[in-house]
Amino acid sequence: MRRILHVDMDAFFAAIELKRHPELAGKPLVIGGAGDPHSRGVVSTASYEARRYGIHSAMPLRTAHRLCPQAVFLPVDFREYERVAQIVKGILARHSPVVEDAGIDEAYLDVSESALSAEEIARAIKRDIAAATGLTCSIGVGPNKLLAKIASD
Ligand SMILES: [Mg+2]
Repeated sequence: MRRILHVDMDAFFAAIELKRHPELAGKPLVIGGAGDPHSRGVVSTASYEARRYGIHSAMPLRTAHRLCPQAVFLPVDFREYERVAQIVKGILARHSPVVEDAGIDEAYLDVSESALSAEEIARAIKRDIAAATGLTCSIGVGPNKLLAKIASD
């Protein structure tokens, strides 16, 4: 049977910003556009604290600001997110020869040929990503991409 892992970084942009701005920990954090909640633009990522106010990706920044005026709004820094994503993708490539990119913060790995169990590989990936970036990820295991993605969600 095939064994597919779906690796998805947790609140990726928000988690990176929290690494750089530890003083924002615990605050609702919204990353989107140029970081101005009164300008046009949409939410790229909302931290878990911000999601509790109903803020979610693709929502206009103005709407997010109305739902949670005290949220901290930050601009999107794609260069930094891309830099961290490259580190993550490099780690994934060490754990499987078959990695399929599914966006800046997620990928599918085919680990069917590995002698290790999918759970062992998933644990090792989480450990390596945490050690290299300080970030966490969710990993789903399944016999195909769809079920692996459902499991990681
Ligand atoms: Mg993600």
